[in-house]
Amino acid sequence: MSMSNRPFVPPGTGWPGDPAGPDTPVARDAAEVVRLAASAPDLAAVEARESVCRACDRLVAWREKVAVERRRAFADEEYWGRPVPGWGAAEPTILISGLAPAAHGGNRTGRIFTGDRSGDWLFASLYRVGLAAQPTSVRADDGQELLGVRVVAAVRCAPPDNKPTPDERRACLPWLAREVAQVAPSVRCVVALGGFAWQGVWPALKEAGYAMPRPRPPFGHGREVLLPGPDGRDVTLLGCYHPSQQNTFTGRVTEDMLDAVFTRARALAS
Ligand code: SF4
Repeated sequence: MSMSNRPFVPPGTGWPGDPAGPDTPVARDAAEVVRLAASAPDLAAVEARESVCRACDRLVAWREKVAVERRRAFADEEYWGRPVPGWGAAEPTILISGLAPAAHGGNRTGRIFTGDRSGDWLFASLYRVGLAAQPTSVRADDGQELLGVRVVAAVRCAPPDNKPTPDERRACLPWLAREVAQVAPSVRCVVALGGFAWQGVWPALKEAGYAMPRPRPPFGHGREVLLPGPDGRDVTLLGCYHPSQQNTFTGRVTEDMLDAVFTRARALAS
């Protein structure tokens, strides 16, 4: 198979920012995700292990099919074709969570929200409020840098129709939970992009030791929930409409609305 036609980038073969290598252990079912996430000694190991995971048959098949077939506009590009790991500061004060990578965005570039329309809106806003070094994020080697921010997804593989199943969400949760636990000492604000991310981040926060309100407040744009954390470190969960094409086209979310949320996140984090 020619290099340009392979279903995923083999770990450690020079893709910019590839956190894994040929010896990174691969989770092949949900039980192995639990084990490998729990035993990951540090954030770098979490990133590496989640980036080679093969636990969900349907999502592995989909992400690799997309990587081989591609979209016409990207026909000459090699696709990442692997789970998209968390990306950004190692000791962030702000954690931003989406639902899952886009088939021709993160699944192509190997970096979350990078190379898709939602990411264009997200990174432009982060840049305007001083949380990103550049206004765009197009490729893994474009020099973009997040300033005190880390971006993650509740599900690490691009799902068909952007809809992971409940089983797939459950299977992927240990990666997010471990990543949240690793950055908990520095994080002061968690921004959930959309209702699905809002729902997806609660169990991860719970596993990381944060106290859960009962009942859990529903998602709302600009909604804030203060969660007492382990060791007395609180975090504020902050809701934000997802900058999806549907939401931005219809004006449900605007540049000003995104900027207001991230300005608030920055204030909460400082
Ligand atoms: S969705 Fe998560 S658990 Fe499932 S294969 Fe991808 S990384 Fe692994």
